[in-house]
Amino acid sequence: MSVTKVLLAEPRGFCAGVEKAIKALAWMVRVFEPPIYCYHEIVHNQLVVERFRKLGVVFVDTVDQVPPGAPVMLSAHGTAPAVVTSSQEAGRISINAVCPLVTKVHHEVKVRSQRGYEIIYIGHRGHDEAVGTVAVAPESVHLIEDEHDLRELDRIDGPVALVAQTTLSMDEWAEVRQEVEREYSEIWMPTKSDLCFATTNRQGALKEIAQRADVVVVLGSSNSSNTVALEKVARSRGVTQVFRVNSASELPRDLAGVVGVTAGASAPDELVDEVIASLNPTHGVEVVHYTAEEEYFPPPPELRDFLRSLSALLKVALASPLPYGTALEDDASVSASRTLMELNRDLSESKTPR
Ligand code: SF4
Repeated sequence: MSVTKVLLAEPRGFCAGVEKAIKALAWMVRVFEPPIYCYHEIVHNQLVVERFRKLGVVFVDTVDQVPPGAPVMLSAHGTAPAVVTSSQEAGRISINAVCPLVTKVHHEVKVRSQRGYEIIYIGHRGHDEAVGTVAVAPESVHLIEDEHDLRELDRIDGPVALVAQTTLSMDEWAEVRQEVEREYSEIWMPTKSDLCFATTNRQGALKEIAQRADVVVVLGSSNSSNTVALEKVARSRGVTQVFRVNSASELPRDLAGVVGVTAGASAPDELVDEVIASLNPTHGVEVVHYTAEEEYFPPPPELRDFLRSLSALLKVALASPLPYGTALEDDASVSASRTLMELNRDLSESKTPR
């Protein structure tokens, strides 16, 4: 490879919702004996899912697969209300790691449906987030992916609301929204866009590097909606060589010139480090700063309650300090990347013969 420079997008990689979900599942791994169950991939990233799998997490597609009494976590993408309810039955310990920004969209759908609106939802068919959101009010929601789907939709006569999957590309959202606005004179839309801050920030940062790069590398999995959105953004900015890769091993060997690097919201920083090492730019790395992200989402309330109760019990039974309660207070200062690396180290040590 003869890469001269890497332009590294900032922000990139883990968002606050993914941080919350990974750290919450890490808590489950520390506290419970395996197997621990997770409904759907905790986040859409191969490395993250595989690491948890090695630690005894079993990923399931239906809650029926979770035995009575077992611990189960619901993923960051949001879960259908009926599945949330059934996850809490049969004595299961159910922790919901849904991102609060997905919960906001669920709330919009629920309220508008109760008020008699028909809801046009722009999202990706089959994606976990879209499946969970549609299930909030299936009788009122019309899922469309693009203008073609909108044209296929029967005319709606009553009040119309327009909501969206949080991880669409900004262009994709804008194009379909304009078409919906042309079709319907009065539409309810949330005051604050459903596209989340992490999605828009990562796309904004990528636009800045795309105009200076010969090649763009996007780290993330093919089933990660916001990762795929980043690919689209790079292409829409005229970059002809755009590569989405799961890891450095998938990089083409003949990359040259200035390479822009970014990562989807579920891709760990350790993968970015490996990609940069592999690109080995002769003139180093320039971080292209778009904006700072300071959002923090605390652990799920059920997990906080559970850990505090466990802590109190340990204190009484063993007269020990409050390990979980104290560590929870520090949650904001510990990154999910560090948590993943620590889990990996624990895994390696447990395999080392003594
Ligand atoms: S991408 Fe946005 S909606 Fe999805 S988990 Fe991250 S912050 Fe939440």
